[in-house]
Amino acid sequence: MFGKILIANRGEIALRILRACRELGVRTVAVHSVADSEAKYVKLADESVCIGPAPSAQSYLNVPAIISAAEVSDAEAIHPGYGFLSENADFAERVEKSGFVFIGPRPETIRLMGDKVCAKDAMKAANVPCVPGSEGALPDDAKEIVRIARSVGYPVIIKAAGGGGGRGMRVVHTEAALINAVQTTRAEAQAAFSNPEVYLEKYLENPRHIEIQVLADSHRNAVWLGERDCSMQRRHQKVIEEAPAPEIQRRVIARIGDRCAEACRAINYRGAGTFEFLYENNEFYFIEMNTRVQVEHPVTELVTGVDIVQEQIRVAAGEKLRLRQRDIEMRGHAIECRINAEDPFKFTPSPGKIHTYHPPGGPGIRVDSHVYQGYTVPPHYDSMVGKVIAYGDTRDQAIRRMRIALSEMIVEGIKTNIPLHQDLLQDARFLTGGTSIHYLEQKLAARHEANKGNS
Ligand code: ADP
Repeated sequence: MFGKILIANRGEIALRILRACRELGVRTVAVHSVADSEAKYVKLADESVCIGPAPSAQSYLNVPAIISAAEVSDAEAIHPGYGFLSENADFAERVEKSGFVFIGPRPETIRLMGDKVCAKDAMKAANVPCVPGSEGALPDDAKEIVRIARSVGYPVIIKAAGGGGGRGMRVVHTEAALINAVQTTRAEAQAAFSNPEVYLEKYLENPRHIEIQVLADSHRNAVWLGERDCSMQRRHQKVIEEAPAPEIQRRVIARIGDRCAEACRAINYRGAGTFEFLYENNEFYFIEMNTRVQVEHPVTELVTGVDIVQEQIRVAAGEKLRLRQRDIEMRGHAIECRINAEDPFKFTPSPGKIHTYHPPGGPGIRVDSHVYQGYTVPPHYDSMVGKVIAYGDTRDQAIRRMRIALSEMIVEGIKTNIPLHQDLLQDARFLTGGTSIHYLEQKLAARHEANKGNS
């Protein structure tokens, strides 16, 4: 096991990684921007290093500063968390070339999965079902593009090979709009990702977002830890996640889960990862793989009893996975609500000082958050200030516990989206389970219309 790990992230995930390290008996180095010097994980870490001013580009994305921090603190490994540099293959390479261990997959794997055209090819080769579409990137020839779109069938979606974060995509409903859409997406992809390559897929009209969590070691062992349903989204940002996915048969999930574990062995995957799928009419369609820990990993931890962050660290240290597929059992149900510092219905960010803070507790409640009473949420970063996760024997019990937890939770001084969650936890369609990725946006649009009517 490592003696010391540098945590190259901030917020709740920095605290989560710190806790995993402590349980493993590993010392920690927190790096932070000037804006985060009062953060809880900075105080709790064995050492801390300020790596730059508030803007992420000069701190949490500042590769030389992070590498120097690892050097001066004698850390052996770097945990990137999620976001920031976690899926940056060049960073992973720099970390390894500088003599540290990157806690994640090998840089080549990150690079492969970061190019969606290559990722899809690799998945097809590994028998993971993908959305029907172009074979690889679209050619330049307009006639050929038209032919491909016709064979796939409208509506189609044009996506940038280098895209991410829900950007670089365009839905096309008719042939008349096709070529223009391809050209515009190409130009945007070039500007945003320095890669003009685009590909085409069938646009699924009402899918759910179902993802499979995997863990693999560097000895070609891989397991899958069940699925998560993350269909409750706004602007491609997940709002509520749960495990297991309601209303999908276990054998259907098992089939796709086994394929994902098999794919990990095929690409020699190492670490924690997530295969994201769209799910429609009982079929799974791979859209992308995330080569890092996810925000929503706790729901899987609660239903499987596996500490994903600790396992990530163990396999990065070269240990063999201690779990075999037959040891993994999903028990009960877990739901996560992401708590954001924002207006619950207008979604404008609401940074500032939290003058009163009472987190919830009780049976089956887990709160992953770095905030405390008197903490100031800085305006420079993502608005997520924590996560409340509820566990129950059944989905119904998890929902009831979550309602109680949110009713107890007090965060004053800033606005949070707790009222939105409370609304969703009473929503008839959510209570039935199995809503599509468009459900929340449709509900919010209807609410907006109703409010206009009232005023
Ligand atoms: P990113 O890396 O930018 O998040 P993804 O490929 O994961 O891109 O797609 C993001 C979202 O875009 C999906 O969660 C889904 O809502 C939508 N999307 C992507 N591909 C399709 C498709 N073929 N049909 C319908 N929706 C899609």
